[in-house]
Amino acid sequence: MYARPMMRRRGRPYAAAHGRRVFILFFLAVGAAFGTPPEWRVIGVESRSFVSLRDLAAIYGMRMTQLAENRIQIANASQSLRFKTNSRETFVYGTQVWLNAPLTLVRGHWAVDHVDVTRLLDPILRPQLYLRSYRAAVVLIDPGHGGKDTGAISPSGTLEKDLTLDIARRLRTALANAGIRALLTRENDRFVELGARSAMIARIRADVFVSIHLNSASDTNARGVETYILPAQGFQSTHAGGGPSGMTTALNGHRHAAANAVLAHTIQRYLRQQTGLPDRGLRQAHYAVLKDATCPAALVECGFLSNPQDEAFLRSPIGRERIAVAIAQGILAYARAIASTQPPSAPPPATFRPPSAPPPPAPVSPPVDNPSLPTPTPVPAPSSPGASMEIPSEELPRLVL
Ligand SMILES: [Zn+2]
Repeated sequence: MYARPMMRRRGRPYAAAHGRRVFILFFLAVGAAFGTPPEWRVIGVESRSFVSLRDLAAIYGMRMTQLAENRIQIANASQSLRFKTNSRETFVYGTQVWLNAPLTLVRGHWAVDHVDVTRLLDPILRPQLYLRSYRAAVVLIDPGHGGKDTGAISPSGTLEKDLTLDIARRLRTALANAGIRALLTRENDRFVELGARSAMIARIRADVFVSIHLNSASDTNARGVETYILPAQGFQSTHAGGGPSGMTTALNGHRHAAANAVLAHTIQRYLRQQTGLPDRGLRQAHYAVLKDATCPAALVECGFLSNPQDEAFLRSPIGRERIAVAIAQGILAYARAIASTQPPSAPPPATFRPPSAPPPPAPVSPPVDNPSLPTPTPVPAPSSPGASMEIPSEELPRLVL
């Protein structure tokens, strides 16, 4: 448990909220300023910047459709985004994603905050533009809590710290079977300071950090899986309502914002598809391990110990294996996205092997730190979208439990 993400708050159309004080500026986005291709028009409104859904649809070769009074879809044959007006709730490839700021009516057009385009949606849709300098050879798995810190406790007495360690061990095995070196921040039931967990990233030269937690809420009906990343710089946590905040400090985790989004989205997608647990989405929160992470990082809440159905699933070894394998598959999809940015001579991307399969040889190259925010390579406006992260269900590996 890291928080109780039950609070939701709707935003208002920006124009309605600010009336006559709104002024509009149109200019072409400068790629160097935001690390994105100069393809969309940025609409400046006071200190905020937006991109219209109409522009996004044109860039991705998508068709814009009004699904209902408050729901808009932009989609093509292989990719889809569904938005809810005045809301941060959206769906990318069918997986829920909570934006940093609500979809806003700007000058008569529904628009997404520019930071959500550059730090969330475009990286998920076109990961090949953002992952060139990244690796996924070494993964640091962080079993939440431990020792005197039990984490959440279910009504039947199940301790979060025990199940997070079990899931972490299973995840390590699944990754090792796919040729990815994985280490744990704690190997047993002991207390580890949050700062010490983040510090391990540099010490072992980890390429990916994934923290494992279980949720709890006063509403016992709340259930499902969610994956957290650090909010965009200057924006609030999802459960705090979203939108800009006064906290504008640049944190370590902000250096990897685009990679964080790709990693968390692939993990959440596989969790949704493989576990059968309700999809609560990719969310944002200022958790300490995410703020301090010096490599791409995500925190997974694997279900609610406060919900009887989720607790039964989490107490079951088969349930925990399903969760671990789904997270491993998400990390491997992230690794394949990185591999797709490499020259043809690079090693092929890791593929999932069931836990019973013999482990493949260890990675050839030594791991390296990710030194800085990657600089995406600008490309001409495509007539068709880039490499899709969508994986047909028939290609998903079978679970061996
Ligand atoms: Zn926790």
